[in-house]
Amino acid sequence: IRPHLKSLKPYSSARDEFEGEASVYLDANENNLGSLAGGVDYNRYPDPYQKTIKEKLSKLKGVRPEQIFIGNGSDEAIDLLVRLVCEPGRDEVLLLPPTYGMYEVSANIHNIGIQRVPLDEHFQPVYEKIAEKHNEHTKILFLCSPNNPTGNILEPATVEKLIRSFNGLVVVDEAYIDFTDSPSWITRLDEFPNLMVMQTLSKAWGMAGLRLGMAFASPEIIGYLNKIKPPYNINVVTQELVSAALDKTAQLEDLLHVIIQERTRLVEAFAALSLIEKVYPSDANFVLVQVQNANELYAYLLDRGIVVRNRSTQPGCANCLRITIGTPAENDNLLESLNAYSAQ
Ligand code: PMP
Repeated sequence: IRPHLKSLKPYSSARDEFEGEASVYLDANENNLGSLAGGVDYNRYPDPYQKTIKEKLSKLKGVRPEQIFIGNGSDEAIDLLVRLVCEPGRDEVLLLPPTYGMYEVSANIHNIGIQRVPLDEHFQPVYEKIAEKHNEHTKILFLCSPNNPTGNILEPATVEKLIRSFNGLVVVDEAYIDFTDSPSWITRLDEFPNLMVMQTLSKAWGMAGLRLGMAFASPEIIGYLNKIKPPYNINVVTQELVSAALDKTAQLEDLLHVIIQERTRLVEAFAALSLIEKVYPSDANFVLVQVQNANELYAYLLDRGIVVRNRSTQPGCANCLRITIGTPAENDNLLESLNAYSAQ
């Protein structure tokens, strides 16, 4: 934790200073006459600590509410964490490319150095090389598992070795954890005080537009994140809709079942296509494929109204496209277009 943030006196909102029930609220300069957005509560500021959601997440994830930070997407959690522990112009974060782009962007925004140790040819971390790159100013190691854009789980034994030996915070970004049978690192939080697990409602839960991401760590680290976050970072609509959605675990399983079934179908179909040179195994809701000419195929699909993600410029991903699992009809459409491309 940066020393000046340890002693930071956080902003104290009206709802911090008065948490009880009253019949007339004249404390937060809201518009008491109502809201042009309609709705019952939209003229009121949201709960700054998202208590209802944290209680539900606590049961769902098997952690205590004090171990949960809620951000405006996990992107906000990544950004706040960099600000919390890294001193601009001096400290560094350690990244294992190819990986999720926001770790680098957040570090760049805050003038934090970046050390990179590429994943090996199986997209696995190389322990010895990471240990070599690590110095006293390396404050965060970002691991992404399942990794974006490669789709694989990072070998748990290597991750454990890294958490045990790294003299800083290890973030395991589990944005895609719901799509795999591999266990979450969330169950190991009490064992490792330097571990932070991030997850999001943007993927499996289908709430990318509502912006809600989570960081799980020791109550001490979570307490600091809460101190530096914008007071009302999760809006009323998101809190209401998320709170209701978190009860729908049966529907979540139904969605996951379809996505995973479609993933298997697409992987098999891709493997049978000669234009696709390599299909990388996926534990996520997307599949990375290597083709002969990614730019050309990208343009061809776009011409047919299908947009995929061209990851060709990422290290180790030459001529690679990352394809999200769509609806069964969308996937049919994609396969049809790939067949047409092959036939031309
Ligand atoms: N981490 C990873 C690995 C991601 O792929 C993404 C979204 N693309 C995020 C975090 C950000 O998620 P959110 O929508 O919660 O900000």
